[in-house]
Amino acid sequence: MQKSDAGIREMTQSAAERAFALSGRAAQYALWIRKAGYLQIGDLFARAGEYTREHGAMLVELSSGCQIPSVDALLADMVQRLHECPYERFAQTAAHADLPQTAELFRGLGQIESTQCRCFSMLLENIRSGSAFEKTTENYWICRVCGALYRGVRAPQVCPVCAMPREGFSLYAENY
Ligand SMILES: [Zn+2]
Repeated sequence: MQKSDAGIREMTQSAAERAFALSGRAAQYALWIRKAGYLQIGDLFARAGEYTREHGAMLVELSSGCQIPSVDALLADMVQRLHECPYERFAQTAAHADLPQTAELFRGLGQIESTQCRCFSMLLENIRSGSAFEKTTENYWICRVCGALYRGVRAPQVCPVCAMPREGFSLYAENY
């Protein structure tokens, strides 16, 4: 990017940050408004939040010259961020302040983020080792677009029903 473009790039990045912050706020307000019983207004807030998040994504792509990070880079970044979770520390601070309910909430949230961190770590390992769509034994794979089931050691290159590429498949599991 040329030097004269630096200001435009900074402006675009700033617009993206604003869009993501606004999107998060709209999603938060949607929860509160739905709790107050105003479901239509809550839905409108939620949708505005989704639109605004898309705007943020567009602006990020624009400011990065449309260079979207690789999936494993995104997974690695998320693992790092979740790994740096401060909630256990916050729980201890709250416990010392004699706020056991707050401490318990932070501890619970920390455990959830720890589980997410482990999940994303495993997915990252699968992507890096090439075992995300290829296992050592036969499995059922489900197309996450159309629901087609396919049995094999590896997911099909494209879905035989809807032509979704392999990346749209996941291992099929029933947990009910
Ligand atoms: Zn399909």
